[in-house]
Amino acid sequence: MLYPPFRDVHRHGNDCDVVMNEHHSAPPAGKPKGPLDGIPFSVKDNFCTESMETTCASRMLKGYRPPYTATVVQKLLDQGAVLIGKTNLDEFAMGSGSTDGVFGPVQNPWSYSVQYRERAGADAGWTIAGGSSGGSAVAVAAQTSFFALGSDTGGSTRNPGALCGVVALKPTYGLLSRHGLIPLVNSMDVPGILTRSASDAATVLGVLQGLDKKDSTTIPPPATPTHLPEEIDVRKIRIGIPREYHAPGLSAETLSQWTRVADLFEREGASVEPVSLPHTQHSIVCYHVLCTAEVASNMARFDGLEYGHRSALEDSTEALYAATRHEAFNDVVRRRILAGNFFLLKRNYELYFMKAQKVRRLIAQDFARVFHGGVDVLLTPTTLTDAAPYRQFIQEDNRTRSTQEDVFTQPANMAGLPAVTVPTALSSRGLPIGLQLIGPALHDTRLLALAAWLQ
Ligand code: GLN
Repeated sequence: MLYPPFRDVHRHGNDCDVVMNEHHSAPPAGKPKGPLDGIPFSVKDNFCTESMETTCASRMLKGYRPPYTATVVQKLLDQGAVLIGKTNLDEFAMGSGSTDGVFGPVQNPWSYSVQYRERAGADAGWTIAGGSSGGSAVAVAAQTSFFALGSDTGGSTRNPGALCGVVALKPTYGLLSRHGLIPLVNSMDVPGILTRSASDAATVLGVLQGLDKKDSTTIPPPATPTHLPEEIDVRKIRIGIPREYHAPGLSAETLSQWTRVADLFEREGASVEPVSLPHTQHSIVCYHVLCTAEVASNMARFDGLEYGHRSALEDSTEALYAATRHEAFNDVVRRRILAGNFFLLKRNYELYFMKAQKVRRLIAQDFARVFHGGVDVLLTPTTLTDAAPYRQFIQEDNRTRSTQEDVFTQPANMAGLPAVTVPTALSSRGLPIGLQLIGPALHDTRLLALAAWLQ
């Protein structure tokens, strides 16, 4: 397993790759409440927490104290897990770099390793952590938390997971409650789980999954247990390599990792075959239309009256709304609100929004066809490259970069499928490279078992 260069802060000896509670002494009353009792964790700051400010890294929610706690966070607290902090993100989870929040950018701990410094050169500067759940990925990578919660709408848990060298699971849509997760795209959002090992992710998944009366989109979890089998026989597994994921911008090193791991599966007896997901190329545009449309509607609630920031300019109600939103949202958020309202105009609704819904269905059908054909899991890269230096990331057209970055991760959100990224190597610059496994709905634990095998 890969680690960032801070092994000395890891206090628990045995690489913490099995049940986290083994190394934790039982509470005074005797029996631990569950496998996470006493385990420190962090939460992305777009989950409501009654005990702590919830900001979405936006000026809009500065000082906002929600009157309730998100279901997934509450479940962890009820189990005795210890919330040690809220983590930084791109404002309202819009972005792929964790560079766009009001608190400033998140730095990737790997770019402080001797290896990176030597290989990338003294002036390369630190690299991004990926986003938008960059703070959560860093909390796990830097070993300040055993696990962290992120959110994943188009890749925001898996992207920083890959760039920070940790395991990051985007569960099946509906398996985990979204109640208390401040929405980005309701039809795609899922709470994500970031851990150092796949078996830790399975433990957290077991605690979090399940129906929630407060989220009507939750689904019953599968009857099978979430703890991972001791052994997994990869000879019984059919692995699909989607042709269309050979995307422009894929680095030679990431491609060679992808090939290496596919070969490894094959050598161990798995059947590895090329598959086609023909509508992949439309995913980014389709996501853009659907995302901005939902953003336009979700952000309407921030009007300066009920939550957080309120402008001093109170000439009229309209002026108050406009000034509040102008002052408190960043450019990315404002741009998406404008685009979304454009797509939702009566004259554009059929042309863009309805069409995007249809394309979304085609993307989901591509996956269904491959899985019904007997393929168990898809193996793909998670990101195009390893982590970019911050200076380079912000110089490039951030909008283009941010959308391209999601090319491998977004389709799983479109289809509501589970996907996990697992670190498999270090690049020549000494930065992590992750690969992604995508499976049929509710096969989350199976994906984690394969991820554990790869670790
Ligand atoms: N990068 C994507 C976006 O900006 C994904 C965000 C996410 O998953 N929260 O919309």
